[in-house]
Amino acid sequence: MSESRMLVSERDGVVLVELSGVVEQPLDFNALASRAVLMNLQHTRRITSFGVRAWRTGINVLSPPVYFIGARPLWVAHFNTTAGFAGCGELLSLFLPYACQQCKNFFEVLWDRRVVGPFDGSSRVPQPQTCPRCRGSADFDDVPNAYFACCARQALTPRSPALDALIDSEHLRASAPT
Ligand SMILES: [Zn+2]
Repeated sequence: MSESRMLVSERDGVVLVELSGVVEQPLDFNALASRAVLMNLQHTRRITSFGVRAWRTGINVLSPPVYFIGARPLWVAHFNTTAGFAGCGELLSLFLPYACQQCKNFFEVLWDRRVVGPFDGSSRVPQPQTCPRCRGSADFDDVPNAYFACCARQALTPRSPALDALIDSEHLRASAPT
């Protein structure tokens, strides 16, 4: 298991935080209090139960605007079901789990809430995706009502063009196959 790491950089007045590895210990966000924060979660797939408690404590020092992008399914589960997990932040993008019936391949597709994605809001079930391995049709592999619970209860607030540009560039880096 890889230990969690936190990379902090700054672009156009926004603090970019990249988490990686398994989050299982306290994260010190004190230096980020009262800053605009974009947290990229795409490189962390796991958070332990101790990590969840530490995360909720750490995230509490932040004040808006705070955004999360690239949440993997296990993180999405916590955004959906763990009280206070998002703190004051908004979840802007998340990975959707897909399963291919033909070749039993499992993969994830990034869904950007800012634009129309696999789940366009017109139905409660994300559209099938092409399997990257066999080019067959793959179906969303979770329970839509549960998976999108946190998105359904949290409307997005307006963002600056600079922030949107930063999110776009981070999403481009996330488009590599998982
Ligand atoms: Zn397949």
